Amino acid sequence: MTLETPREHAQAGGGLPLGLTPDRIEQLRALLRGGLVRPEDADYEESCRVYNAMIQKHPALIARCSDVADVIAAVGFAREQGLTLAIRGGGHNGGGLGICEGGLVADLSRMRGVRVDPSARTVRVAGGCVWGDVDHATHAFGLAVPSGIISTTGVGGLTLGGGLGHLTRRYGLTIDSLLAVDMVLADGRFVTASAEQHPDLFWAVRGGGGNFGVVTSFLFRAHPVGTILGGPTLWPLERAKKVMQWYREFIPAAPEELNGFFAFMTVPPVAPFPEHMHLKKMCAVVWCYTGDPAHADELFEPVRALAPALHGVHAMPFPVLQSVFDALYPPGLQWYWRADFVKELGDAAIARHVEFAERLPTMHSSMHLYPIDGAAHRVGPHDTAFSFRDAQWAEVIVGVDPSPDKAQVISNWTKDYWDALHPYSAGGAYVNFMMDEGQERVQATYRDNYARLVEVKNRYDPDNLFRVNQNIRPTAEGAALH
Ligand SMILES: Cc1cc2nc3c(=O)[nH]c(=O)nc-3n(C[C@H](O)[C@H](O)[C@H](O)COP(=O)(O)OP(=O)(O)OC[C@H]3O[C@@H](n4cnc5c(N)ncnc54)[C@H](O)[C@@H]3O)c2cc1C
Repeated sequence: MTLETPREHAQAGGGLPLGLTPDRIEQLRALLRGGLVRPEDADYEESCRVYNAMIQKHPALIARCSDVADVIAAVGFAREQGLTLAIRGGGHNGGGLGICEGGLVADLSRMRGVRVDPSARTVRVAGGCVWGDVDHATHAFGLAVPSGIISTTGVGGLTLGGGLGHLTRRYGLTIDSLLAVDMVLADGRFVTASAEQHPDLFWAVRGGGGNFGVVTSFLFRAHPVGTILGGPTLWPLERAKKVMQWYREFIPAAPEELNGFFAFMTVPPVAPFPEHMHLKKMCAVVWCYTGDPAHADELFEPVRALAPALHGVHAMPFPVLQSVFDALYPPGLQWYWRADFVKELGDAAIARHVEFAERLPTMHSSMHLYPIDGAAHRVGPHDTAFSFRDAQWAEVIVGVDPSPDKAQVISNWTKDYWDALHPYSAGGAYVNFMMDEGQERVQATYRDNYARLVEVKNRYDPDNLFRVNQNIRPTAEGAALH
């Protein structure tokens, strides 16, 4: 059977929702400075692609927003026409939440400005930026904003879900450096949310995802980060049990200037990895040390004492570490995700981890444990919508491969691995590492913050216009906004 292309699908009737007339579409087109893409357009298929090639969705309309006015027009159109509305930031979401089937996508990827204020140490970031844009702009001033580990990830989705990465232990989650957001709400109003203005909304967007509106600009506090010591240390998989047992003690006791996420991996057959290690399954810790280099030798002494096969830690500009995995994980691979928060890494869990690492199904597949301690633990579970401040790790299992033929194999491995480890977890998962896993998982993730999120949702988006996300369901249909 030949699969139809997105364009064929939309033209076959999957695209134009009932009541959407060509006239109304032309009116929207006239309102948009960034342009409108429809299934008959030459760039439609390209515009439908998101980072995860396993996701194939076919919107009726893609509004390329170039400014806030375009966002207001797109949101208003979706509301008036009763269309499903997806907001696309960097398009990286594992579950493909930056795109939708048959509705309207507000694509922010052209809203890319970054303005650093070096004296105030703040950064203003447009809603469609990716982290590489921010790292490039801030590094010129010896500054950085905590983000993730890949430079092509969108600022929008990553920040609104929380934001875990190389600087978490030192400076907290990305939301802990967020000072304010400019937003377009469901009713078309434009507001700023901060500690002083719409504090309820500001609380909710720090972890509650894109549930409350379209963020057109983020204001972050930046931190002094320039050259860091970073890179991976690798051990043979046979040593994984010992390394994990050591890692679970080492990281919580390490100074906050040192971050290290744990990974199972298959060594890619490229430099700088020595040939004899190519395609070997191994375990690794990827380090980022932002402290005084004079203390580095002493700090890494216990790491070297574990006799690694490779200790590849070097001085490098922070943006280099941020983009070091970009080439290994280009857009267009097949991805299947599962995740959990973890409080304790016991011996029984480690045994199961090692079992599944031995069966890593493809070179790109992996399991990561990201520390969520240090500065991230100093913010309380109710201070922002991100509830699991008491977790020690965010665990994510990813089955990844370039070939669609491997989709089943990587999905099965990921699901089986997750099933085996979930009983050892803390319950919920980091929203940005989840696919479409149902309402129970969303509630388990927000725990007792969920009720407050529903209140804020009722106030700002009572009709659930913003629902292509890990959805907070409103209960008060038609409740008045304030
Ligand atoms: C290779 C890879 C590496 C990753 N590494 C990390 C990591 O190190 N740390 C980490 O924390 N996460 C990481 N993630 C997860 C990442 O945070 C999520 O995939 C996130 O959703 C991506 O954001 P995006 O803007 O690119 O996604 P999109 O697919 O564009 O959007 C995702 C969700 O966010 C909403 N959204 C996006 N922008 C806006 C906006 N401006 N206003 C309102 N809503 C918006 C969308 O509506 C959608 O619901 C990684 C993902 C990938 C694929």
